[in-house]
Amino acid sequence: MSDVWGESLPILYGRSVATGELVHVDDAPNGKACGCVCPDPGCGQPLVARNNGKKKIHHFAHIGGTCAWSAEYLLAELALEVIRERGRVWFPELAYEALGTHLPEKVSEGMELPVCCAEKIEVEGRKAPAIALGIRTSRGNARYVFVPELVHVLDGEQIASLRKECRGIVRIGLRSLMRSMKTLEGKHYDREELAVRIQSKEVMEELLSGRRQRHLEWAWNAKAKELGDRAWALYAQRKKEERQKADAEKERKAVIDQARREKVRLAAAKRAEKERAQLAQATKATAEREAAREAWEEAHPVQGRSIRDEARRQKALSDMDRAREIMAPIVDDARRPARGLGGKRWYRCEKCGKVGPADEFAVGDVGGVWNRGVCLECAG
Ligand SMILES: [Zn+2]
Ligand SMILES: [Zn+2]
Repeated sequence: MSDVWGESLPILYGRSVATGELVHVDDAPNGKACGCVCPDPGCGQPLVARNNGKKKIHHFAHIGGTCAWSAEYLLAELALEVIRERGRVWFPELAYEALGTHLPEKVSEGMELPVCCAEKIEVEGRKAPAIALGIRTSRGNARYVFVPELVHVLDGEQIASLRKECRGIVRIGLRSLMRSMKTLEGKHYDREELAVRIQSKEVMEELLSGRRQRHLEWAWNAKAKELGDRAWALYAQRKKEERQKADAEKERKAVIDQARREKVRLAAAKRAEKERAQLAQATKATAEREAAREAWEEAHPVQGRSIRDEARRQKALSDMDRAREIMAPIVDDARRPARGLGGKRWYRCEKCGKVGPADEFAVGDVGGVWNRGVCLECAG
C-alpha cells in the first residue's frame, strides 16, 4: 500500500557501512563521502548526506532514487533503541465499542509499563520490521507488537497475521502525527521537511512515552476483542429475548383480537337475523290486514266504497295543501297572472289570505291587481 508523499522519502538516519549502526545525518560527512547506505537491508543503496544546507533540512537521499521502506525500517530501529534505553513503554487507553450505544467502553487508562524484552520481528506483507516486546503480568509474560506506520498503513491482513502471536498490536502513528503537524503548519508546510523531522529520536521518545497519546493507538487487542465479543453476545442475546417477547405479545394480542372480531361478527349476525324476522312479521301483518280489509269490503260493499272515497278525499286534500304552498310565492308576484298546472288561474284572498284556484274565489284580479281576489267564504 503506497502513500501520498511518493515512494522515496528523504530520511534522517543512514546505516554506517563501517559499524552497521544508524547514523544521524549531522554526524556523517557531507555528500557521497558519508559512508552510509539505506537502513533497509533489502535496499542497501548508497546514500548521499545533505547536511550543509542553510535552508533545507538536513537529510540523507538515495543516489539511485527509489526506496519505499527505508523510513519505516529506520523508525523501527529507532523505536527498538528508545524502548531498550527507557526500559518502559506507554500503552494507549484500551476500550471496546459497547453495542447498541456505539460508545466506547473503557477497559483501562493509558499507562506506562516496564518492558522485560524487546526485539525486531518481521511482519508478513511489510518490508520493515515491527517491535515485539514482553510485559510481565501475574500470568507470565505477555507479548505485544508495536508497528511504526508512516508511508505504509498497517492493513487488515497484516493485523490478522500478527494477531496469532501476541496479545495486542499498537500503531506508532507517525502518519497521523505528520498529518496533524501539516494541519498546524498550514498550507505553507514543506512535506519533505516534515517527513524528515518526525524521524527523529526525540519524536519517537515522545510517542513511546505517551506524550503524543493521540498517535499511539491499538490496531487490535485480545482483551478488548474478548470483551467486545462478550458484549456483542450479550447484546445479541438481549435482542433475541426482546424479539421473542415481542412475538409472544403480538400472538397474545392476535388471539384477543380474533376473539373480539368473532364476538362482533356473531352479534351482527344475530342482529341481522332479528331484523329479518321482524321484517317478515311486519310483511305478514300488513298482508293479513290487507286481506282482512278486502274481506270486510267484500262483505260490506257500500261502507267499503265510502271508506275508499274518504281515503281518496284525504289524499287529495293533502295534495291540495302542497299545491297551495307551492303556488303562494307565484300568486304573490303581482307582476304577472299566476297559473297552476293545466293553466287554471290562482289567487290570494285579500280578506283571509287563503291561496287557491279560481273555482274557490268569488272575484279575481281585484282593483286591477294581478292575483288578488276574494274567496267564496269571505265574499259570502
Ligand atoms: Zn533504500
Ligand atoms: Zn277569504
